[in-house]
Order: sequence, then structure tokens, then C-alpha cells
Amino acid sequence: MKILVINAGSSSIKYQLIDLESVERNAVLASGLVEKIGEPVGRIVHKTYAGGAEKKHVEERPLPTHNEGMARVVELLTDPAEGVVKDASEIAGVGHRVLNCGEVYSDTVRIDAKVKEAIRDFFPLGPLHNPANLMGIEVAEKFFPDAVQVAVFDTAFHQTMPPKAFLYAVPYEWYTKYRLRKYGFHGTSHKFIAAAAARYLGKAPADTNIISLHLGNGCSIAAIRGGKCVDTTMGVTPLEGLMMGTRSGDIDPSALEYVMDQTGMDIHQMLTTLNKKSGLKGVCGVNDMREVIEAAAGGNEMAATAFEMFCYRVQKYVGAYMAVVPNLDAIVFTAGIGQNSQPVRERVCAGLEHLGIRLDPEKNRVRSDDPIELQRDGAPLKILMIPTNEELQIAVETKQIIDAANA
Ligand code: ADP
Repeated sequence: MKILVINAGSSSIKYQLIDLESVERNAVLASGLVEKIGEPVGRIVHKTYAGGAEKKHVEERPLPTHNEGMARVVELLTDPAEGVVKDASEIAGVGHRVLNCGEVYSDTVRIDAKVKEAIRDFFPLGPLHNPANLMGIEVAEKFFPDAVQVAVFDTAFHQTMPPKAFLYAVPYEWYTKYRLRKYGFHGTSHKFIAAAAARYLGKAPADTNIISLHLGNGCSIAAIRGGKCVDTTMGVTPLEGLMMGTRSGDIDPSALEYVMDQTGMDIHQMLTTLNKKSGLKGVCGVNDMREVIEAAAGGNEMAATAFEMFCYRVQKYVGAYMAVVPNLDAIVFTAGIGQNSQPVRERVCAGLEHLGIRLDPEKNRVRSDDPIELQRDGAPLKILMIPTNEELQIAVETKQIIDAANA
């Protein structure tokens, strides 16, 4: 079954066409990124993988709206010479990544007018993403009229958090009137990791207890008990929790008023700074962990400090989540940093030996596209590295919706 996965941003469309039998049996037929939509010159990078060889096509052309971008993607996918499908009707489903639908949907749903209304209703709580996601849905409905359109919410996996975890200690009516609460993000990745860890450990998801560390440019940790999320670090927006590439993570809100008074910034400038100019970038000037580590190795003290701060905050949350996940099976590193950065894994684990987290430096050096174990022999807790795959998770859930509709 061919499923197109779409992640629409305000000026971009990321896509992947997956031929899917099951989570284990799948093939990416094409993937790509349409960007700079609405700018004078847009750009499309389209890749195909026939015979295992990546073939890349790049073009620049004006793309005034998402409509022109998607039209071009359809042409590339169905190109008589280089295309991967004969026509758009071969695509059975389109799975859309949607940021937030609050408490309305706690699972993946087939898109209808009600779902679109709910996505619109959450524009104020996802002002950058939800409108773009809805635009992506409307464009896809036009170009793939025969496909089942499915929404996979980035917050859905976290809907199992109990009130004691998701409520903020603020006037309660902020929750009842304004829907202010911790929603959590990266839910699709944490859900994929929860299932992949259970498969790897040979346990039923309902018996699997893990702490999932999604460390990429955005970073979040989820405490997963019996396959279900019981707490996570991101909040009403992705700004809360860990230190990230450019986001501050946790900060005393009074600091905002103080710095705004000192600098004359308004709240929008302040939030832009906390989202885009803070984190690793704010402390040492670069947001890519590879560059931070290189700079630190070259004697840059602020880079070394940023690295320490990043790892320290991960350690603190792992400790906190060990307190709320009894019978822990494993901590799992994933995403760009978690999968690739040996120094980060080493530094994080080095502070947690007293909690049973004992990394084997040799195993930590191994690179793998498959799940691997990194703990020392005889250690009480497993340390896993599992590559995440949000697109595959979206495709799998889209297929489940289609299969259920056909059953
Ligand atoms: P996103 O959150 O944008 O999806 P990714 O999960 O792809 O991000 O992670 C991107 C980040 O992963 C980069 O910013 C970089 O810091 C980090 N990264 C990738 N490879 C390495 C590596 N070998 N060592 C350290 N960090 C890495």
C-alpha cells in the first residue's frame, strides 16, 4: 500500500512516499522538501531510491503558494520517465503530521470537516504549525482526491498523562477556560520508540517501561509506563523542558519581565529570543551539537559550558522520570544527537552510574541503523540506541486507519 506522508510548514512541505506492508516491511520510494514557498524563488529537492541508489533532483522556480509546490511534487512523483507511481490514484492514503489538537483527539483520525474544524480551533495554541498543517491537508485533498486523508497529531501520544503531570500550578480556570496545560510534542517519535523498544526487548508494549530521550535540534524526554506516556518535558508549546539547539527550555518566568525591563524588548521579541536565539546557540553561538563539541575540543570554554549544561539537564530529567517509572526496562537515546553523538551519550550516562545506568564505552562507539544496546555487561539497566522514524510511524498509522475502514 502506497502512503504519502506530509509535514507542511508555513513555507515548506516535507514529504515521503512509502510502500508499506508493515512496520518491518516497508520501502521509501521517494522523499523530498519543497521550501521557500511564497518567496521570489522556491526550491524543491526530490529524491528517489530505485534499486537502492539515491537519485537527487533539485530545481528552483517560483512557488507562490503550497498549491504550486504540491502540483510540482505530484508531477515529479508521476513523471513518465523518472516517476515512482503511474498516477496520483495509486496513493491509497496521505498521512499528515499535525501539531496539536489538544484533548479533542487522543489518537490518529481520518480527516473530515469536524477534524479540520478542530485543527482550526487550535490555531491559537499552534500559531505557526496548525494553520500550515491545515493548508497541507487542503492542498492534498485537491491533488489526491481518491486517497484517505489522515491526521497524526504530535501531541496525541501524550494524552495519557494524568492531570497531576499535565496541569500547571496556576489558576485552574486557565485550564478550563483557555485550555492551558502541558501537551507535549515529538509524540509520534516517542510512540515509535515505545513500540520499537518493546519489539526489541521481546515484550508486550503494555509490559514495557522506558524513558525515551529524543535529542535532536528540538529535544524532549518522555516517561513511558506500560507503553503509555505518563510525563514529558515539553509543555503547552515545545519551549519547555530540556535545553535545545536554539530553545531555552525551562526558565523562571520572572526572568522575562526583568530582561524585558532592562532591554525594552516586548513579549514577542522575548519569545523569539527564547525559541530561536537561546539553548546551545544562546550560550556558545552555534546550535549544531557537532560544532559545539568541535569548538569545545578546540578550547572554546563557552562551547564546553553549553555541552555541560545540555547534558546536565538531560541527566536531571532522566533522574526525575526514573522516579515515576517503576520497573524501568531501558533508557533509549534517539534523534540526531541521541543516535549519533557518542560524547553526549557518554556525558549523560557518566553522571547516572549510581542509578544503574552504566555505559560501555566500546559499545557506545558502534554506529548502527538498527537498535543496539550500550550498557556494560551485568549492568542493572539497559541503555538502548534506537533510530526514530516519524514518517514511518505516520505511514503505519495511516495504513491502520485505511485497513480499519476496509475491514
Ligand atoms: P530535528 O529536531 O530538526 O528533526 P534531528 O533529529 O535531525 O533534528 O537532529 C539534528 C541535530 O542532530 C543537529 O542539529 C545536530 O546537532 C545533531 N547531530 C547529528 N549528527 C550528529 C553527530 N554525529 N554528533 C553530534 N550531533 C549530531
